[in-house]
Amino acid sequence: MSPKKLEIKNHKLHIKWNDNSSSEIGLKNLRINCPCAHCGKDREEQSETYIPLFSDEQLEISEINLVGSYAVGIKWKDGHNTGIFEFNKLKKLST
Ligand SMILES: [Zn+2]
Repeated sequence: MSPKKLEIKNHKLHIKWNDNSSSEIGLKNLRINCPCAHCGKDREEQSETYIPLFSDEQLEISEINLVGSYAVGIKWKDGHNTGIFEFNKLKKLST
């Protein structure tokens, strides 16, 4: 499984997969679940009831790149670019 088409529309990442299924993930949901070590650590330090607040820049994507044949690397407008989202994870985050 790999993405055939990536598109950002209405604050969501739309993915068309090569098996013809598709995924839609809200950008906020994506950012909250950023899998990089830094964000993981932030989440660990917060209580379970903590709701993160993001600025507009943190919720806009400036670049998306394929990473090998297993993941998508996302660069956010605030410069955060260490989040590598594996295809499986993207499928799981999809609503
Ligand atoms: Zn991160």
